[in-house]
Amino acid sequence: MEDRPERFGDRAEAAGLPVARAEFPAGMVWLIGAGPGDPGLMTIQGYGALLQADAVVYDALVNPEFLKWCRKDAELVYAGKRGGRPSPTQDDISKRLISLARQGRRVARLKGGDPFVFGRGGEEALALVRAGVPIRVTPGVTAGVGGPAYAGIPITHRDTNQTVTFVTGHDQSGDSPGTIDWDGVARGSHTIIMYMAVKHLAKIAASLMGSGRRPDEPVAAIFNATLPDQLVIESTLEGIAAELEEHGQAAPAVICVGRNVQFRKAIDWMAQLKGGQARSLNPLGQ
Ligand code: SAH
Repeated sequence: MEDRPERFGDRAEAAGLPVARAEFPAGMVWLIGAGPGDPGLMTIQGYGALLQADAVVYDALVNPEFLKWCRKDAELVYAGKRGGRPSPTQDDISKRLISLARQGRRVARLKGGDPFVFGRGGEEALALVRAGVPIRVTPGVTAGVGGPAYAGIPITHRDTNQTVTFVTGHDQSGDSPGTIDWDGVARGSHTIIMYMAVKHLAKIAASLMGSGRRPDEPVAAIFNATLPDQLVIESTLEGIAAELEEHGQAAPAVICVGRNVQFRKAIDWMAQLKGGQARSLNPLGQ
């Protein structure tokens, strides 16, 4: 076997640490939500599974820190669609998972955020079940929940909203939000959390305003959410697209639309940890 550096999984095993060890039989694929970035946001169950895995198939948005937690002899398989490497198709990834499982490996399928939130985890699960491969699923903190939390934005609050919608800015073709009912989203939900929406944001914001949302409604774009280089750009529905264009950020972002964004003025705990002051203790100005 090739010589690999020792990883935390080996030491945890040796030390008999309590790792929430759910049984991980040979030949199973375990879909694990890694959370949005901060390694502390993986669940203890996901962590326990990761430590046991013989093969770990991971996506581009998964923090590489997690790979240090795997066993020394675990095979690490990159299945990402970013980063200039040749992109495997979804079908390739499912086939790889099936083949690893059929070799009798314990396969951890590590996905960013939550596996079943805009992550094609459902497609992988279906392919595995259809191939007769046993699966388990451990949810994760989705970027649309973890990002706002780390930006100091409660995604529901009694004074601002009773509904929240998670929506993707890409439809199935990947290049146009044309099949999404933006009018329904604008009218039906006080707070809107958007994934993969930066590219088409001007069009999306125009649709929302066309359906009655106020141009001065607060918006926050949260880049690299929960990571040390998290960046939050605050603007309005009318101004956000131009502002993001000016910034030219290529990192993944969640966009949060709604009055809740104003709470950040008081609850931006990351800024306060770094010694900053709250901008307002009465963020809704009431
Ligand atoms: N399954 C993932 C979503 C995958 S889709 C989840 O539950 O979070 C990829 C999109 O997720 C990105 O385009 C971006 O909108 C969002 N995203 C994922 N990680 C992020 C992060 N660390 N910061 C900001 N947005 C993130």
